[in-house]
Amino acid sequence: MTMPLPMRPDHVHCYLVPVENGYLLVDTGLGLPDANEAWAAVLARLDAPVVTTFLTHFHPDHIGAAADVRDVTGARIVQGRLDAEQTRIVWENDAWSDRLADWFHRNGVPEDVTEELIGQGARYRPFIRTVPDPELVADGELLHGWEIVAAPGHADGQLTLLKEGVLIAADHLLARITPTVGLWPESRPDPLGDYIQALERTIELAPEIAYGGHGDAVTDPVGRARELIAHHEERLRLAASALGREPRTGYEVSYPLFGDDLGPAARRFAVAETLSHLERLVRDGRAERHDAVDGGDVGFVSYTAAQ
Ligand SMILES: [Zn+2]
Repeated sequence: MTMPLPMRPDHVHCYLVPVENGYLLVDTGLGLPDANEAWAAVLARLDAPVVTTFLTHFHPDHIGAAADVRDVTGARIVQGRLDAEQTRIVWENDAWSDRLADWFHRNGVPEDVTEELIGQGARYRPFIRTVPDPELVADGELLHGWEIVAAPGHADGQLTLLKEGVLIAADHLLARITPTVGLWPESRPDPLGDYIQALERTIELAPEIAYGGHGDAVTDPVGRARELIAHHEERLRLAASALGREPRTGYEVSYPLFGDDLGPAARRFAVAETLSHLERLVRDGRAERHDAVDGGDVGFVSYTAAQ
């Protein structure tokens, strides 16, 4: 089921998987004002009920219509433990946008740009209708005969489903789009390290086809995983070359990495993605992080090349 999005990419794929007693629905799309009617129309065309809804990760385009889908299907909602936790921290928390603004500011984003970033995020809030207390699942468990495989990186708690060489990959693996891998407040400390490991695991599991959340199916998942690892190695080289003795913030480094020409929403992702690369470099011994400015209280977080 391809559902529309009022942004780029302009759609998200949800999947209806036939299982023993009906359908397993994977993801819900964004909670647009007509999400309820849209899903009711989908259900009316099905020959069997949706018995389980599985949420792959907490991003708005995947879980935004969770409450609508629950209302329309009456089916149980299943989500990973960490992902459910992050859903609460990010979407069910009025203090989140201040936390985010403060965090962007500490990473060098100027105050006025921070305000714009936050405003952009707030526009999507009405389209995110979460459910409290989903049933929790974890890596390695079976869901209607599909193995749940954790694939952290794009989201810390990203889960995928694998059965007989078919991977329902959500945003872990996409055909043409490079999934964003950002560092955010409250995220795991090294999302890019997590992502590269998850891609290596995909190579080991060697699915024959992967169905992602956006764009075409991935007909060579192993090759695509290798390509994404190579892409990030190149981006890490670029990030390292942007560092020297002079401390630079994530915001500053986002310019050589992503260019000057970004609107506030794109800059927000660029800064988060730059930070995930800088933190990977720190763990790799190729960069150093400096948390405080000498003589000040907590200042900007900045990075230099490793000495
Ligand atoms: Zn997505």
